[in-house]
Amino acid sequence: MNFIRVALQAKGPRATLRRVRSLAARYGFSPRKMAQALQQLAALLRKYDCGATFPITAVALARHPQVIADERWRHIEFAVHGYTHIDYTRLPQEEQLAHLRRARQVFAAHGLTATGFRSPYLRHDATLNRSLAKAGFSYVSNQPFLWDVLTEADVPPQARTAHQHALEFYAPWRPPTHQSLPRIAGELVEIPVSLPDDEMLVERLQASSERIARVWLGELHAAYRRGELLTLQLHPERALACAAGLEAVLQEARALRPAVWIARLDEIAAWWRARSTASLKLTPVDEHTTRVRVSGPAGIALQVRGAQVLAPTQAQGTWQLVTETEFDLRADAPVTPVEIHNTPERGAAIRLAPWPEGAQSALAITGDIDGLTLWDYGLRIWGR
Ligand SMILES: [Zn+2]
Repeated sequence: MNFIRVALQAKGPRATLRRVRSLAARYGFSPRKMAQALQQLAALLRKYDCGATFPITAVALARHPQVIADERWRHIEFAVHGYTHIDYTRLPQEEQLAHLRRARQVFAAHGLTATGFRSPYLRHDATLNRSLAKAGFSYVSNQPFLWDVLTEADVPPQARTAHQHALEFYAPWRPPTHQSLPRIAGELVEIPVSLPDDEMLVERLQASSERIARVWLGELHAAYRRGELLTLQLHPERALACAAGLEAVLQEARALRPAVWIARLDEIAAWWRARSTASLKLTPVDEHTTRVRVSGPAGIALQVRGAQVLAPTQAQGTWQLVTETEFDLRADAPVTPVEIHNTPERGAAIRLAPWPEGAQSALAITGDIDGLTLWDYGLRIWGR
């Protein structure tokens, strides 16, 4: 009874009951309802010319391959959301590996190369990450990151306990102690996933469409200010309730200048890996001048603080963005190369910009597909 236990732990009994009722309304006995929801999402994404990542369980894919075997899904990445919808941290490593390998085989049999993984319930630990690397995955997106965007009014008194439950269950990273940025962890790229997500807003906080839009715009603006990544999580089963919120985010992200890089998780993982191979060389020219050379993937840029850049720059928060790969700096004090994950509060510094082509921040649209019919959903109770 893995599902019930984890669901009760994650959501609390009242929210679980509500969830069962709303599931019955959203899923049908055939995949028609979910197919419609997915198509609605895909149409919205096409309108803004952006891709998305939908993690799906291998069993749901195997049961209903026709739902996603379509030209319309060309821009969508399907990642693995488990072979079945279970808490993988409870399985011994050999079983984890068997599930993960089988899931990749199912994807391959349907013409999909799965490089990414998101756990059911976002459950993760170091053992699972080792299994994922062993099974050939290249990235994982399980670390919740809670943006500081909810106001008192967003959390009505009757929802406070359920909301608290969720926060304890997810134990999310928060700003300012953490950054919502990918990192290289062993052989995997880890990509955080943002909260509040659709589940938190719709099921627990019973937020209206307008409120969802406002909260998500708040997340987008916070990520933009900090130059970080917003990984929006929107289960396609709630596409209708969240369409206005998603559209508000896409519209704003497309309008902002400097640009927001909208990308799928596989693209973000590939970029972060490529970025990690870049090398920065500083050579003194004279007492106050340093020659900077960066070699790295196409689109690599640098951020400089506390020095005069003898090349075109663009303001990016407290940094100056430089897209040239060779230029000179003038400064009275030495300019230290720093890591984006480990940048001191002040002092002259230079580092690799986080995103390609000098984008200010990044946005990924993701939506976990737990199942495509009520049967799929029900079968999860037995871990099928
Ligand atoms: Zn799920």
